[in-house]
Amino acid sequence: MKDLHHHSPNSPILLTASLHVDEARQAIASLVTDLLQESRSMNTAGDIESVTLDQAINRILAEDLLSPIDVPAGDNSAMDGFAFNGDCLGDSDNTVTLKVAGTAYAGKPYAGQIRSGECLKIMTGALMPDGCDTVIPQEFTESADASLASFKQNQVKRGENRRLRGEDLQMGKAAMTAGRLLRPSDLGLAASLGIASLKVHRKLKVAILSSGDELRPLGQALDAGSIYDSNRYSLTGLLNRLNIDIIDCGIVRDDPASLKAAFIDAASKADVLISSGGVSVGEADFTKQIMQELGDVGFWKIAMRPGRPMAFGILKSVQGSSRKTLFFGLPGNPVAVMVTFYQFVRSALLQLNGASQTEAPLTQAIAEAPIRKKPGRTEFQRAILGRGADGKPTVKLTGSQGAGILRSMSEANCFVILPHDQGNVAAGDWVDVALFDGLL
Ligand code: AMP
Ligand code: MG
Repeated sequence: MKDLHHHSPNSPILLTASLHVDEARQAIASLVTDLLQESRSMNTAGDIESVTLDQAINRILAEDLLSPIDVPAGDNSAMDGFAFNGDCLGDSDNTVTLKVAGTAYAGKPYAGQIRSGECLKIMTGALMPDGCDTVIPQEFTESADASLASFKQNQVKRGENRRLRGEDLQMGKAAMTAGRLLRPSDLGLAASLGIASLKVHRKLKVAILSSGDELRPLGQALDAGSIYDSNRYSLTGLLNRLNIDIIDCGIVRDDPASLKAAFIDAASKADVLISSGGVSVGEADFTKQIMQELGDVGFWKIAMRPGRPMAFGILKSVQGSSRKTLFFGLPGNPVAVMVTFYQFVRSALLQLNGASQTEAPLTQAIAEAPIRKKPGRTEFQRAILGRGADGKPTVKLTGSQGAGILRSMSEANCFVILPHDQGNVAAGDWVDVALFDGLL
C-alpha cells in the first residue's frame, strides 16, 4: 500500500499527484486478491453454505454445478409436425406421401414402431419414436386426408427439427461454473436439472457509518446548519441489491475518540467497512491519524468527478487478531458516495465474495446536447438513456450535476462516463453509458 500514499503518476499539469481511476481500481483489486489468498490459506470451511433455489438469487456460486442428467434426456421434436425416417428424402421436389401411424405428445411417447412408408404426428417436445430421425413441420405438409401426410422430398434435410439427447448439456459437464452471480435464468437452469439447492459463498457483512457533526438521523428536527443523513439510505439500497448483510454503525461525530471507537467496533464485526464523509482536505488529517493506528490506509486524490477524495485500505481492529477488514472511506457528498460505490466498491465486494465477473456492463449512446469536459479526469454525469426518432440510443443529462445534488441522480437511469483523456463532447457524439439497473 505504501506506494499509493504518495502516488504521483504522469498526470497532466492540472492534476498532479492524482490517481487515475483505473489505477485506483487496480490497486483495490490487487489488495482484494491478497486478502482472498490469505483467507484461502486459513480454514475457510464456514465460508460456503447451501441454500435452496428460492433463496439463491444474487448469491455467488461457490463450486461448479455438474449436470446429473443429459439435457434433453432423449431425442425429441423441435416442432409440431410429422416424424419419419429421412431415407425417403431427396433433392427433387417430388411429393412423398406417408401414412400417419399415430400421435406422440410431450410427456406421452408413442409406444409402437414406425415402419417404412409411415410417419408419426408429433408435438413439440415429444420423444422421437424409434426409427425416425427427421421432423417435417405441420405447415410444410399438405393432405386432404388426416391419415396421410404429403410433402416435397427436398422440403427438409435428414435430422432437421429434431433436438438431440444431451444437446444443451451432457451429464457430468458443468452447467454453471463457480463464481457465477446467480440470476433468475440460473435458478431455472438448476431446477431444470432437478437440483433444489446450491452451494454459495456466505453473505458478506458490511458495516456502514456516516461521519459528520452536521448529520441528523431521520425523525429528529433539523437545527441550524444540520442536514439529514441521507448517505446511510442510498448505501443501504446499494448494498441490499448485492444481497449483503448490513451492520449499521450509525452517525459518528467528528472527534477522534468517537471515530476511533466506531472504526474498531465496525472492524471487529464486519468484512468490510464503508464510511462516508471526513476524507476531504479539511478533515482528512484527522482521520489519517486514527487510521495510522488502526491499519494501513491510503488517502487518495482520484482524478475523477465527482468523488475525488477517497480513503482505502485495511483495518486491523482487535489486537493480536489476524482478522482484516477492508475499508472504504467514501467522500461525504451524496452523489459522490454513489459514484465511488459503483466505480470501486461494487466490484471489490463482488470479488471478495468470490464472483468471477465483477465489471459492470457498459453500453454506448449518442449525446443529445454538448457536454463540457476537461481532459485529465474521468467524469460521471447523471443522465437518462432513451431512444431517438431514428431508433438509435440517446442520452440526455439530468439537470445540475453538482456532487451534492441527489435529485438529478434520482431522475437519472444511467451514468455517462467520460474517460480521462476526453475533452468536450459535441451533440451527436457517441459516449459510454453505465445503466444503474445493469449494475446488479
Ligand atoms: P465531507 O466529505 O465530510 O467533507 O462532506 C462533504 C459534504 O457531504 C458536506 O456537505 C456534508 O455535509 C455532506 N455529507 C457528509 N455526510 C453526509 C451524509 N451521511 N448524508 C448527507 N450528506 C452528507
Ligand atoms: Mg464532514
